[in-house]
Amino acid sequence: MLANKSQCCGCEACINACKFNAIEMKYDDSLFKYPEINKEKCKNCKLCEKVCPINNKKVEKTKVKLVYAGYNINNKTLYKSASGGISYLLNEFFLKNNGIIYGVAYTENYKSAEYVRIDNLNDLIKIQSSKYIETNKNNIYNVIKHDLEDSKNVLFTGLPCEIGALKSFLKKDYYNLYTCGLICMGPTSQKVEKEFIEYYENNLDSSIKYFNVRSKVKGWGPPNHIELIFQNDDKIIKPFNETAFGMAFQILSRKSCLDCNFKITNTYADITIGDYWGVDKNSEIYNKNGVSVILVHNDKFNEVLNQLSNLKLIDIKYEDCLKNNEMIEKSRILDKRKKKFEKNFKTKGLIYAYKKNNLWYKRVVKKILPKKLIKIMKGVKK
Ligand SMILES: Cc1cc2nc3c(=O)[nH]c(=O)nc-3n(C[C@H](O)[C@H](O)[C@H](O)COP(=O)(O)OP(=O)(O)OC[C@H]3O[C@@H](n4cnc5c(N)ncnc54)[C@H](O)[C@@H]3O)c2cc1C
Ligand code: SF4
Ligand code: SF4
Ligand code: SF4
Repeated sequence: MLANKSQCCGCEACINACKFNAIEMKYDDSLFKYPEINKEKCKNCKLCEKVCPINNKKVEKTKVKLVYAGYNINNKTLYKSASGGISYLLNEFFLKNNGIIYGVAYTENYKSAEYVRIDNLNDLIKIQSSKYIETNKNNIYNVIKHDLEDSKNVLFTGLPCEIGALKSFLKKDYYNLYTCGLICMGPTSQKVEKEFIEYYENNLDSSIKYFNVRSKVKGWGPPNHIELIFQNDDKIIKPFNETAFGMAFQILSRKSCLDCNFKITNTYADITIGDYWGVDKNSEIYNKNGVSVILVHNDKFNEVLNQLSNLKLIDIKYEDCLKNNEMIEKSRILDKRKKKFEKNFKTKGLIYAYKKNNLWYKRVVKKILPKKLIKIMKGVKK
């Protein structure tokens, strides 16, 4: 059996395994995509079930051997990364040493995102920064297998469930495969990005030419900032959490992300990276353009980390990075607003759901808080 809907992480390993093109990802009522088997094409070979990472859950617990904080000392490239640019530095190292990297890029119109194979430095920028939506995996696990069998050094960076999917798909260890997992609270639906961008495109009568949910025009968060630039050069920069996209990211996730099977003690990754939220501004490792945490699970990356010349790195305590980043160990909690938000989104669209939710919020706040306090808060906002 394939994973049930409460567990299926949408990794698409099953689709990659099926030699008869019998599986397709289809949106269900929850606004996320799930695999659907075409019974007429299916030959009942069960390959899809064998590669499903939910059917091959990790038994042995993963350890965190070393913990670092660090960033890319080249401010120009750090600026374009989501956090401290560790992923950028690793990707750059592999490309400079004839390796192949895999990561996530937006499609041309920015309305969806997909895994891509990169073999040259010019294309590295395409995968920089976080894309906060569900991605299309395409044929990526098969392509990676081909590179590995071809003795290429491969660096795969992805969400922990996708690393689980890759390892489950490959069925054996490869000396030339390096995996880097992102700390993950779970992406939102692709439909969010599409409707969000289209809303502005229609209002401004211009097509999008740049989109980033982790823009650093106002520095590295919190708060994070979203940046949109249009063909007519109109620009929108807003605190991420105050936008319809930000609200959807908080509220709308796959069911599997509420009980994630790939948190730090169950990860298949060789290293895990994320934001060093809460880093002391007076600390030697603080950088206003971003600081990362790096959790090392085995020796695979030892030599690589030693050879990154643009990396500033210090040892930190595990508790220090955990303090402000619960998602390392825990799954996100079901947001009470989800049912209503989802219903409004499905029937009347993202912007309506966002406005309706904001209105409800304002009414509740007004009821609870005394008028005087609201006046003071409004004053602060201005
Ligand atoms: C959906 C999502 C949720 C996250 N939640 C948290 C969190 O709760 N706490 C936390 O500390 N960090 C979280 N992160 C990780 C964080 O946003 C950064 O991606 C991470 O710190 C790497 O930053 P960097 O500067 O090293 O990478 P960069 O140099 O900016 O490179 C970005 C890397 O991320 C990969 N990537 C981008 N989008 C995706 C995607 N959708 N799926 C898979 N890979 C992708 C790219 O391929 C590239 O390798 C999340 C990331 C995503 C995509
Ligand atoms: S059982 Fe075999 S043929 Fe059927 S969907 Fe799964 S992999 Fe494809
Ligand atoms: S392989 Fe991935 S997409 Fe397919 S059923 Fe399992 S978890 Fe879901
Ligand atoms: S929270 Fe877990 S299941 Fe959800 S996308 Fe992240 S790694 Fe996958």
